[in-house]
Amino acid sequence: MTLHPLQRYRGFVLDIDGVLVRGGKPLPGVPEALADLRTLGPVVLLTNNSTRSRQGMAARLTARGLAVRPTEVIPSSFIAARYLQQEYGPVRFWPLGEEGIAEEMVLAGHTPVEPTHAQWIVVGMDRALSYAKLDQALQALLAGARFLATNRDPTYPTETGLVPGGGAVVGAIEGMGYPPEVVVGKPSPIAFRVAVDALGIPPGEALMIGDRLETDIAGGAGAGMGTAFVLSGTSTVEEAERTGIRPTWIAQDFPALVRGEFLSL
Ligand SMILES: [Mg+2]
Repeated sequence: MTLHPLQRYRGFVLDIDGVLVRGGKPLPGVPEALADLRTLGPVVLLTNNSTRSRQGMAARLTARGLAVRPTEVIPSSFIAARYLQQEYGPVRFWPLGEEGIAEEMVLAGHTPVEPTHAQWIVVGMDRALSYAKLDQALQALLAGARFLATNRDPTYPTETGLVPGGGAVVGAIEGMGYPPEVVVGKPSPIAFRVAVDALGIPPGEALMIGDRLETDIAGGAGAGMGTAFVLSGTSTVEEAERTGIRPTWIAQDFPALVRGEFLSL
């Protein structure tokens, strides 16, 4: 039996959109490929999406045909809650985002409060963003709150195309004169650290699998991980050539990667 090339890694960190899922549905062959990859080592799914908790995101993926456990999913809502707990202990917070942020923050021991009592505002994509909410964020910041952004992805892919992402909300606050003090989502090293911690292995023994060169691949490499770039999502081979971002492996899509069918630049 020949050694599978990916067997040199002891764990795998996978991006979700553009790798496993597109338009909310698993890409063809992905559930089977994920089962095969799990025979090589543990997997975690690392996403800048902050709208759901680990529990909520695992339930949604499982309902759509990709069975994953909550402990295998690492959304930026969870990264934010864990980062604040590790750096500052329990904090008083005000969330500007969807339910995932408050859910994970409370699970980590943080306390939701009115904006002007918050030590931190924790911000992500919010499909109910309003002028009133921006005003609440401003009052929190004027009262001394610090600003954590879960991510600054400019857009977010849905079944019907791109919609404004977490970066749109972060940018609205930045436009009031307050840039985020910390951004925890990819390509921040914080995101990759939380992912490899969850696998319980050193970064050098983990493989980051993603479709975005600037976040998944550059960030994973910066964190000391091996990287695999798949062409089923956002970035292209031409971009890899132009930007000089060089992944360890390239494959047409995630199932091809797991089959060991690699492309070269
Ligand atoms: Mg992606």
